Amino acid sequence: VLDVPDWPGNLAGQHVDLRLTAEDGYQAVRSYSLASAGDGSAVELAVDRIDTGEVSPYLVDELLPGDQLELRGPLGGWFVWRPEISASAVQLIAGGSGIVPLLAMARAHASSDSSAAFRLLYSVRTPDDEFFASELDELARDPRLEVTRVHTRATREGAAQPAARLTRESLAAAVHPVAADPDVFVCGPTRFVEAVATWLVELGYPAERVRTERFGGL
Ligand SMILES: Cc1cc2nc3c(=O)[nH]c(=O)nc-3n(C[C@H](O)[C@H](O)[C@H](O)COP(=O)(O)OP(=O)(O)OC[C@H]3O[C@@H](n4cnc5c(N)ncnc54)[C@H](O)[C@@H]3O)c2cc1C
Repeated sequence: VLDVPDWPGNLAGQHVDLRLTAEDGYQAVRSYSLASAGDGSAVELAVDRIDTGEVSPYLVDELLPGDQLELRGPLGGWFVWRPEISASAVQLIAGGSGIVPLLAMARAHASSDSSAAFRLLYSVRTPDDEFFASELDELARDPRLEVTRVHTRATREGAAQPAARLTRESLAAAVHPVAADPDVFVCGPTRFVEAVATWLVELGYPAERVRTERFGGL
């Protein structure tokens, strides 16, 4: 959680560009979605540690309270959800750390009086890899949000479904049907987003209702 005194507030789904500068002047910039939305100077990020990465291991392992970072943002005006958007059904689909902007949307929805029916499909390797697991359980107590988890590598003992990657068929079974005419937000690693978006269009969801955010990687 970053304290940004002059933060202008942000919409759910937006991101920031974060710039790090080493002592020798070397700079690296990466984008991170905002888990927080609305007003206030507390800006929340959630960073997945990519072992071979340049920036994410530093943010996860080395950044300390009191360190200063350079932020640019909030950025992005397309991959956002606002309570006044009129769709009565909203489908969120996350792969791994792609949950971050979708959590911001679920939080914004929970604290609004929107009657939209939200569904979240969250694909992640194992239960231990879930970001915001207990908060999602908490949010799902609200009948306006339904959460479905897919564990791709290992799952809990006694789980109703064995660990398996999403397929077009298991996706279709978990999301709002085409007839519900949902706004769809898909976020995660590039390959995940491309596979899911392709399946959605094949299943008949209008492409212009499917918004995507690619985090990079495979
Ligand atoms: C709009 C936007 C929002 C993003 N939001 C988040 C967020 O909320 N949380 C978050 O953790 N990341 C997010 N990312 C990804 C983030 O910007 C970085 O790409 C990621 O942290 C890796 O940076 P790095 O410097 O550690 O790795 P790099 O040094 O850039 O890359 C090292 C290796 O990791 C691979 N790699 C890069 N990115 C990923 C990835 N996302 N998944 C798997 N492998 C990857 C590269 O292909 C390369 O082989 C977002 C990206 C975008 C474009």
